Amino acid sequence: MSLLELDDVKVHFPVKKGLVFDRTVGHVYAVDGVSLQVEEGQTYGLVGESGCGKTTLGRSVLRLVEITDGSVNFDGTDLAKLPAKEMRTFRRRLQMVFQDPLGSLNPRQNIESILSEGMAAHGIGGTREERREKIRDILTKVGLPANALSRYPHEFSGGQRQRIGIARALVLEPDVIICDEPVSALDVSIQAQVINLLEELQESLGLTYLVIAHDLAVVRHISDVIGVMYLGSLVEEAPSDALYAEPRHPYTKALMSAVPVPDPEVEDRRERILLTGDLPSPANPPAGCRFHTRCPWAQDTLCATERPVLKDVGGGHKVACHFAAEIAAGTVERTAASV
Ligand code: SF4
Repeated sequence: MSLLELDDVKVHFPVKKGLVFDRTVGHVYAVDGVSLQVEEGQTYGLVGESGCGKTTLGRSVLRLVEITDGSVNFDGTDLAKLPAKEMRTFRRRLQMVFQDPLGSLNPRQNIESILSEGMAAHGIGGTREERREKIRDILTKVGLPANALSRYPHEFSGGQRQRIGIARALVLEPDVIICDEPVSALDVSIQAQVINLLEELQESLGLTYLVIAHDLAVVRHISDVIGVMYLGSLVEEAPSDALYAEPRHPYTKALMSAVPVPDPEVEDRRERILLTGDLPSPANPPAGCRFHTRCPWAQDTLCATERPVLKDVGGGHKVACHFAAEIAAGTVERTAASV
């Protein structure tokens, strides 16, 4: 069994008018049947456009949102069925690093106070001096000076604040860290430093990561497996190298075609696949394949009526597309233009 296993997880938010459920709108199908496994010591990268449900899925693992259906197995326990007060132990073992480091750090607390708060709540570190010692050690591990203890969040740069966010997770000795857009608020030059730090910490502390990002370039190097989400569902999942070598789902192909080539000297000969239209509303997702309203290969009947399931096409590469084989073989007509 994997360390973290999600099985058919659904998070449906009832839309309310004031305090009353609005039947005319119904539910927002933020996450609609996602299954995935994260192996111990590995990194699972979850990518997709803003609004595809990836952050909600990450928060569902920590029960920060109500799970409508499905199971979240962590180390053999189904967190989705656990009474709220029993989640406490698991909250320590499953930590989250947020996108906006400044917004997630209390500006009135110094770094020692921010980091020791969770330790005291979970009974980690014994005396105040022992906790301080542990915090100093973690600050060194994340590349911050020991004198950071007495300073306040606004005294640090964006990259340093994200290191504080990582340290706050680490002091609780977690097994899994869910990193939600860990570098998207940072300058490009700082992004690589934070990603490298996450990799080093994983290696030295044996951590397991679920990294959520909208940017494929961010998850590429850090992830062992990548899942691509569209409108509440996984549409493709594969070992990182396989996904980059041969994306099979039309949505992944379009995302990949928009990633700039790293070396500006190298001529970009890739075909650009342009998606038309906006992401449909998760309150009213299209019938059939949810991507059919924007898919350049959509075929009339099947795509609009039957929802494809995620199927293994070999080597752990899974795709949810009725025509994945035909698209790969070039035997199905493209129905919309690309450049
Ligand atoms: Fe496109 Fe049809 Fe495949 Fe969906 S099932 S991705 S609409 S070809």
